[in-house]
Amino acid sequence: MFIEPRVGNGRELPRRGWIEVVVGSMFSGKTEELIRRLNRAKIARQRVEIFKPALDTRYHAEDVVSHNATSIRSTPIAFPHEMLLPASSCDVVGIDEAQFFDQSLVEVCNQLADHGVRVIVAGLDMDYQGKPFGPMPALLAVAEYVTKVHAVCVRCGDIATYSFRKTPSAEQVLLGETDSYEARCRHCFLEGQQERTALGTAVAEAAKH
Ligand SMILES: [Zn+2]
Repeated sequence: MFIEPRVGNGRELPRRGWIEVVVGSMFSGKTEELIRRLNRAKIARQRVEIFKPALDTRYHAEDVVSHNATSIRSTPIAFPHEMLLPASSCDVVGIDEAQFFDQSLVEVCNQLADHGVRVIVAGLDMDYQGKPFGPMPALLAVAEYVTKVHAVCVRCGDIATYSFRKTPSAEQVLLGETDSYEARCRHCFLEGQQERTALGTAVAEAAKH
């Protein structure tokens, strides 16, 4: 479990900020981990704000909701810079589903941390093809603390780091359908990709005749 090196912004000292990133595949519990950290800060009466991309409307527009239904109120925004003003008076800022924001998120997180805010970012590190997702690689580089959480492979029970898409859609952002994905380990993810390629080739061949 992640243990913060320091969580107090002692009244007598100038506030010091930093960036924490929590990444993993779908079903890895990264949102739960974000909520755990934020709730602990709230209990300590720190000022907390939570933001998420406006396009993620899978559950409730106002809540960061994880799959296990532990939820916390959040503000949907279209662009990262929209959080600068409301976040500047906070001790802690949480950002969920960060992979859907554009690259400017990195600069915004840096600015907040530079101004004494503790920034906690959660997001998918890879898309359904196993490619680094949106601003996440750059965020991982600039963060002081990185936590990679894992799911369990539905095929073999190994540690899973991939979000395998069960449907053939080629859009990077496919929302609303957690049923369309399953967590897989490297081996089973690769097998699934190869099966799909083989199937695609067979369909293309059949169409020729
Ligand atoms: Zn597996």
